[in-house]
Amino acid sequence: MADQKLQIIPLGGLGEFGMNCMALRYGDDIMVIDAGMMFPDAELLGVDIVTPDFTFLEQNAAHVRALILTHGHEDHIGAVPFLLSQLNIPIYGTAFTLALVERRLEEHGMLDEARLNIVKPSEKLTLGPFAIEFIHVTHSIVSCVALAITTPLGVILHTGDYKVDPTPTDNELFDLHTLAEYGKRGVLLLMSDSTNVDRPGYTESERAVRPRLEDLFVRSPRRLVISCFSSSIHRLQQILDLAQEYGRKAVFLGRSMMSTTEIAHDLGLLTIPNGILLRPQDVMQVAPSKLVAIVSGTQGEPLSALSRVAVDKHKSLSIEAGDTVALSSRMIPGNEKAIYRMINHVAKRGADVIYGSMNPPIHVSGHGSAEELRLVLNLVRPRFFVPIHAEYRQLAAHARLAQHLSHLGLENTFVLESGETLLIDGEGARKGESVTVGHVCIDSGTIGEVVEDMVIRDRRHLSEDGFVLPIIAINKNTGRSEGLPEIVSRGFMSMEESPEVMQNARQVVLKTFESSTSEERGDRGVMQEKIRVDLRRYLTKQTSRRPLIMPVILEV
Ligand SMILES: [Zn+2]
Ligand SMILES: [Zn+2]
Repeated sequence: MADQKLQIIPLGGLGEFGMNCMALRYGDDIMVIDAGMMFPDAELLGVDIVTPDFTFLEQNAAHVRALILTHGHEDHIGAVPFLLSQLNIPIYGTAFTLALVERRLEEHGMLDEARLNIVKPSEKLTLGPFAIEFIHVTHSIVSCVALAITTPLGVILHTGDYKVDPTPTDNELFDLHTLAEYGKRGVLLLMSDSTNVDRPGYTESERAVRPRLEDLFVRSPRRLVISCFSSSIHRLQQILDLAQEYGRKAVFLGRSMMSTTEIAHDLGLLTIPNGILLRPQDVMQVAPSKLVAIVSGTQGEPLSALSRVAVDKHKSLSIEAGDTVALSSRMIPGNEKAIYRMINHVAKRGADVIYGSMNPPIHVSGHGSAEELRLVLNLVRPRFFVPIHAEYRQLAAHARLAQHLSHLGLENTFVLESGETLLIDGEGARKGESVTVGHVCIDSGTIGEVVEDMVIRDRRHLSEDGFVLPIIAINKNTGRSEGLPEIVSRGFMSMEESPEVMQNARQVVLKTFESSTSEERGDRGVMQEKIRVDLRRYLTKQTSRRPLIMPVILEV
């Protein structure tokens, strides 16, 4: 019966942070776990998101049975529309996860063709040779599952992301019993989240932030502005509960914050106390001491709600002296500069800014620390182990963490990077042939606009549409532009070909610069993003082409 071999094929998220995607193959049948995205580095300016290269799945399209989603974070679902545009396979996930996927598909006009299937924890699903059981796990987002996949060769356990939260705010406990049962019966392969392996001890429960949040409600004399990830439903629930207890009205600001809370509320995962929710346009009418604003944009994203609030460019909310702004989040490495810039703007308005690590904490991680990872290893006691979801150093550390199990049935641990495969058959496990992987840079359209079609900005695309460098020279002393901005382009139309378009493009850049506030002008990240968005809108309209735009700001 088990005459075929099993292949573990990581397409993203191993040896890199983000864009998690894993394919499993038994015989001819393939199933895919998660299809996430990665936020681009600052060097990739001009690109909105990065997704895995799905060439392997395309080449084997006839054999791909389904996509199974573990939870709704962007690094697990963000690439779903791009995968689906290449391969229309059925998708399985919990109701909340699929609702977030639906929102993305709708943005791309792809919802009608999508085949979405809701699953619940403890349910089972059979896809060819794979019998999958969904196991509830705790994480910073609700409705997360691990997968126990029974194959003819044995059970594969994929944890998704998790921490072992003993007191989750929704009282949905990590189903350690089921995990242990599988362990007792024997697990062929464990794949476990490695994100926080270098943190000793245990990660705090989501409830650990309540004392700090409560302190903010007690002490803040005026408006309280709290920013967190819009998907952190546990955190949002605690903020809303405190708003009710302390008699503050609440408002959600930011596109993702407003739509995610609506989805969670519709599914009964977020309880909004009666009468406390304000419409954004009514915010400034409420007495400052009676308001809590819950705002998206913790990472200093230039066009997010909080970044706009910070430079007084938000249409509903202004920060005034004596207000309190709290970042209930971590700084994702690479974003520090943008975040500190935003904090500086807020501080200049005379607000008290609360961020960073403190005790009691204002933020707790959603990923398990070393002892939780060890607990899962010990409960599952696999024959083979592959650490997943992190950079190489963390995968390697997780492999070391499992060493004590070599006396308890662990035959081998494999540290794989995306593209490296593992082969399991009746003989055992070994590394197999590598498959094509890579980073595909995608320009998902201007923020605030509905995206009509997807533009995949891979090399082919770049060679078709070229790139444009608007260069603006700013006088250090006056803060004003030195003459008309220059535009350099390659592979796109040149000044000789269409002098009018390029001349007007220079005016567009100048206008964007001059219509910005002095604070925005002093903020390179904000200026680059604004110029990029405006110039792209202009060039797309004029030429129907979407070159890569990389604004350059020079101080002279
Ligand atoms: Zn993740
Ligand atoms: Zn996650």
